[in-house]
Amino acid sequence: MAEHPNAIASNAIELTNVTLRYAGVLALSNVSLAIPRGEFIAILGPNGAGKSTIAQLMTGMLRPSAGTVAIDGQVRQTAERSFISLGVALVPERRRLFGQLTVGENLTLSGYGAGKPRAELRRRFDEVMALMPKSVQDGRDRAAVTLSGGEQQMLAIGRALMASPRTIVIDEPSLGLAPIMTDRVYDLLGQMHADGVTVVVIEQIATHAVSYASRLAVLDRGEFIHVGAMSDAASEEALKVGYLGHG
Ligand code: ATP
Repeated sequence: MAEHPNAIASNAIELTNVTLRYAGVLALSNVSLAIPRGEFIAILGPNGAGKSTIAQLMTGMLRPSAGTVAIDGQVRQTAERSFISLGVALVPERRRLFGQLTVGENLTLSGYGAGKPRAELRRRFDEVMALMPKSVQDGRDRAAVTLSGGEQQMLAIGRALMASPRTIVIDEPSLGLAPIMTDRVYDLLGQMHADGVTVVVIEQIATHAVSYASRLAVLDRGEFIHVGAMSDAASEEALKVGYLGHG
């Protein structure tokens, strides 16, 4: 496949010596992680480990107190509100849908937010809607708040997909979902990955993520305490410490 020679070596996201302080709280301390294009990586960690903070740093919602964040090999330090125009989308924790707006309006608004022209927006709307479960498709005129938790998570991913991202960062997609709905969410993530999207899932419980991700990073109190291939013995060991939902 023809690609720009400089693009081949670049990572989708690269954090280098990133520190993030909220007033007096040190949320991330000198963290580095390179995510190659096309990877499916899981970042796990307990409450307060810094997971949402890293998700926001990777997607340009927060800027580091120190260190750099590079997207596709280019360091981004300017005051961008988010990296969506660079092809990096965030699905935030707890979904953050517009609850009183309809399913369709949630998708359309997100497409406008990504700056899509009207004709392209319509085409993308149909493509994204086709990825949604039938219950969401049938409920396109229902207020988003009336969907089940799992349907809302699918719609939140749908919102991110409206921008046709090359990289998607998802903060705790399985939070509060029944395992069967989590299956559907991960099926969709797997499908996106097969289509070439770089996927970063951030979770407290690894049950689903282990079957999809090829690499595991464990965050604890603002630092990575493990990074390795999912199949490594060290990753298996790291997972035993409570991340499989029965530890
Ligand atoms: P959870 O799983 O509970 O969502 P998390 O791993 O996502 O946790 P973060 O939300 O990134 O963790 O928080 C990391 C640390 O930073 C915590 O100690 C948290 O209390 C603190 N923190 C997060 N947001 C802020 C903020 N806006 N102001 C001050 N401290 C914050």
